[in-house]
Amino acid sequence: MAEERTIFHKIRDKEIPAAVVYEDEDVLVFKDIHPKAPTHLLLIPKHFVASIADVTPETAHIPGMLILKAQKFAKEKGIDGYKLTFHVGKGGGQEVMYLHLHLLSDMKLEG
Ligand code: 5GP
Repeated sequence: MAEERTIFHKIRDKEIPAAVVYEDEDVLVFKDIHPKAPTHLLLIPKHFVASIADVTPETAHIPGMLILKAQKFAKEKGIDGYKLTFHVGKGGGQEVMYLHLHLLSDMKLEG
């Protein structure tokens, strides 16, 4: 079954622009278009998973990988306090069905 392409597929594949602050072979990090804190980033895996609700034993490493990327990014940028959030499913406030980790901080990201 072909996966439904979300807005984050299009950002990942550079079909629509986003304010990308970090990218490597596993992850893309970009600014949330409607920030709810001075720093509000979204981390998406390059490998598509729709939601935490869809994680399987084969993809269980992906949420942990996103957390480690968030930790490393925050450390490198000197962000020493932040919140990490996964919204899970429509009832959990998830609007975009492409797994993403919110990183929010009252500290402003430089640049
Ligand atoms: P969710 O509620 O699914 O956990 O979060 C989705 C987030 O994606 C929201 O905070 C929303 O502001 C953000 N968002 C939705 N569309 C776009 C977009 O086209 N570009 C960017 N950068 N963020 C988006």
